[in-house]
Amino acid sequence: MEHRTAEVLDRSAGVLLGCSVGDALGAGYEFNGPCDPDTVTMLPGSLTGRPAGEWTDDTEMAIAIALVAAEGADLQTPSALEAIGEKFLEWFEDGPDDIGNQTASVLAGADGPDDLARSARSFTASHPRSSAANGSLMRTAVVALATLDDADAAAEAARAVSALTHPDPRCTEACVLWTLAVRHAVLTGTLDLRSGLSMVDDDVADLFSEAIDAAEHGSARDFATNQYVVSSLQASWFSVVATRTSDPATHFERGIRQAVALGNDTDTTAAITGALLGAVAGASGIRADWTANLGGWPRGIDGAGLVDLAHRIVQS
Ligand SMILES: [Mg+2]
Repeated sequence: MEHRTAEVLDRSAGVLLGCSVGDALGAGYEFNGPCDPDTVTMLPGSLTGRPAGEWTDDTEMAIAIALVAAEGADLQTPSALEAIGEKFLEWFEDGPDDIGNQTASVLAGADGPDDLARSARSFTASHPRSSAANGSLMRTAVVALATLDDADAAAEAARAVSALTHPDPRCTEACVLWTLAVRHAVLTGTLDLRSGLSMVDDDVADLFSEAIDAAEHGSARDFATNQYVVSSLQASWFSVVATRTSDPATHFERGIRQAVALGNDTDTTAAITGALLGAVAGASGIRADWTANLGGWPRGIDGAGLVDLAHRIVQS
């Protein structure tokens, strides 16, 4: 599609930029306890020691997907999923300093780029109590950019890309919900997490419907533990709804500060929150001082590079 409006292009770029800024903001607080949102600022990575403003695995895995999507690939197809698998493995072989346990096990256990989904199913079968973390939700927003013209394709691609490392239905369907919400936000400039509920698998639809209700009626302390994928989605949606305001740029800033202030998996919560709020605020609504020092794997891509990548995806 070559004729996107300027607003859709800006909001599309806001998805990748918002994810990376949230990730970078949370990186300074990874696994800290709760704090006052007003005190949250860009700090060097608390786990990685990287300079303030650099992103972590959340953005790196999103970029791996984005690089494939920018070539115009249909993300539901085996060839595209293999290409994403190849990027994930390239990243893994470069020795990331921040990586989820399940993702590391799945990538280490894969026999090649076309073997990730099998390795992920094997891990999930042997770890029934610990295979529903937020490692695919953190990187799913970019799938929306590749599927702006087709909601069904968005849901199927979100499921398939999740299943490369996280095939548990709670993970795949969380990715469906968030991807559809990001897609809705890019297309309309409005927020509606329930817009995708009808497309979620029946087996977990009630779980997510109740989880969204609880996120909208809870307080910050209810979401201080947020690595389980449903808790992660709730922490992110709480951060969105608790900071609602009419100005999208202000909402973006307050939302990702709130996500970090919840504590625990701060970079991931803020990356997920930032991708959705960035889809409303647009790249133009994100503070320039927060995008100035963005960077990480792959070296050579910065904030401007992310904007360019998003534009290439939605115009391919
Ligand atoms: Mg991270």
